[in-house]
Amino acid sequence: MTDSETVVAQADARTAELAGNLDVLLGRIDAACRAAGREPGSVRLLPVTKFFPAADVAILYGLGRREFGESREQEATGKVAELDDRRDIRWHMIGRLQRNKARVVARWAHTVHSVDSERLATALDKGALAALDAGERTGPLRVLLQVSLDEDPERGGVGQNDLDRLADQVAAAEGLQLGGLMAIPPLDADPHSAFARLATLHTLLLARHPGATELSAGMSGDLESAIEHGSTVVRVGTALMGTRPITSG
Ligand SMILES: *Cc1c(COP(=O)(O)O)cnc(C)c1O
Repeated sequence: MTDSETVVAQADARTAELAGNLDVLLGRIDAACRAAGREPGSVRLLPVTKFFPAADVAILYGLGRREFGESREQEATGKVAELDDRRDIRWHMIGRLQRNKARVVARWAHTVHSVDSERLATALDKGALAALDAGERTGPLRVLLQVSLDEDPERGGVGQNDLDRLADQVAAAEGLQLGGLMAIPPLDADPHSAFARLATLHTLLLARHPGATELSAGMSGDLESAIEHGSTVVRVGTALMGTRPITSG
């Protein structure tokens, strides 16, 4: 094979690999919905493309996906720029975010899943309003509140006691829209009890904020349990993309 034939063959192989993984994964989500007595289609897949190149996102776009999750601001901002001719992509910021990156992320993010403090919410509100002003976005920034299921401040997430106040702040912010909740189960916890607790917090939130219907929960290893407990969107990296070159992100 010539060099260019090799490149084409590699791209074809990656397309086949991602298409196969996607099929298996959609089947898993479907089966989990049925097992939980939920409507198949009531849970969305958010492919998590961190550590993988924009070329992979383009392949998944070709396979019909329109939402993608990224966890590192710099890497994401680069990919968004590379793919900016695909106007209908909805980018989700799912990782920890520093306040000084709020302005940049507010330019490209449809939804931020990882808001866990009043200061970050304030920075994102300002960023979203500035982006609206500059014509860089057309609607408010959708925000999910990341809740801590073990009250360990090191791992991120707002504690139960501060959740109502943060939710009210986001709901009142002109540049933000309160979308719902997100959580990552504690490393050593039983996912079932963690997701059950998350479901309770979501029910309480919905009583105050009926529009906050999104529940972002479930990853490659625990999506069945999350779906059983009411997840509306699963964030899946490894089971779709393969093993990440570095796993600390
Ligand atoms: C990387 C990441 C995921 C995806 O995890 P996998 O186990 O690879 O599916 C989900 N959520 C967040 C916040 C992540 O950073």
